[in-house]
Amino acid sequence: MSLPSSFVFKGLPTRVVFGRGTIQRVGEEVERLGATRALILSTPHQQADAADLAERLGSLAAGVFSRATMHTPVEVTQDALEAYRTAGADCVVSLGGGSTTGLGKAIATRTGADQLVIPTTYAGSEMTDILGETQNARKTTRRDPSILPETVLYDADLTLGLPLALSVTSGLNALAHAAEALYAPDRNPIISLMAQEGSRAFARALPAIAADPADARARSDALYGAWLCGVALGGSTMGLHHKLCHVLGGTFDTPHAETHAIMLPHTVGFNAAVAVAELRPLAEIFGASPGVGLHAFATTLRAPLRLKDLGLGEADLDKAAEIAVASPYANPRPFAQTDIRALLQDAWEGRPPQL
Ligand code: NAD
Repeated sequence: MSLPSSFVFKGLPTRVVFGRGTIQRVGEEVERLGATRALILSTPHQQADAADLAERLGSLAAGVFSRATMHTPVEVTQDALEAYRTAGADCVVSLGGGSTTGLGKAIATRTGADQLVIPTTYAGSEMTDILGETQNARKTTRRDPSILPETVLYDADLTLGLPLALSVTSGLNALAHAAEALYAPDRNPIISLMAQEGSRAFARALPAIAADPADARARSDALYGAWLCGVALGGSTMGLHHKLCHVLGGTFDTPHAETHAIMLPHTVGFNAAVAVAELRPLAEIFGASPGVGLHAFATTLRAPLRLKDLGLGEADLDKAAEIAVASPYANPRPFAQTDIRALLQDAWEGRPPQL
């Protein structure tokens, strides 16, 4: 690992409760926050799990709001705020993936509510002070300390039913956080260690989950990876990869986890040409050319490989490349619009990275 000559490390303020069966401690953890009335959040798909959680919390549950939606639409947040106030809630418990965590963050930053997050995917949002919200079809992303959850409870038993496809794509989404943290302009050795360890955890866990989705040990490993890669995202400035995925998701409404999964080999491949030392941890795990190695890893996992399959046309690639270079952002390898267009072409066709 290459040690930067100077760096800042912000610390790790979120309390983490990790382990199978730790859901039994959820009431204790709510009380530890000094709260007495929790609004439980979920997507419609996980409504029954949210109701079970409310039952487990008993009098500590103030109600359930099960309308969390991808990309945190502000209209949904407004309804959730109404539910929060009507219920007389004093904290939120977010049960689900990044969409539900996003809603909890949106409530917390507007009300000062403490958050307890129980992640059931590997997206890693629970470890960041980042919130992306959509209003009038525009997504804006910001960072603020009020967004960072206070407590995160990782219980692999709640992830045994996470569908294989989302297990793989949200795991690759987390790996993308690690990759970009390794070459971030504000990287530091502690975050780099976590990014490296998180990547190793996914390299072990995802093939094991693909072989047996009910493998609780592999599920624990993946949640461990999600934690570490989430910290890596929260502790670093992201580059080309996150920017391109933001452009694709924001402009063409491509699904979040799949977009990250498809783009990862290509953005890593592109940057590996110059960030050799920074990306060495990934080369050690996935092979000397980490972009090509990640493409092979994704292929083995039957992850989506082609932007074409997300409904994008070739003209959309021109537009995406144009938007991606319109505003400056940090990236180890400088690029022109033609570079991005070529990279997108590889991702569209699903071939291994060429650049
Ligand atoms: P998601 O939260 O959108 O979940 C996708 C679907 O899977 C939902 O219907 C959900 O209910 C279901 N699901 C989740 N866990 C399940 C389980 N264990 N079993 C069965 N079904 C389950 O997916 P995601 O990929 O976790 O999150 C994507 C969102 O998170 C995007 O909006 C993205 O922008 C955001 N995100 C934010 C950050 C951040 O730091 N702000 C980081 C990563 C992702």
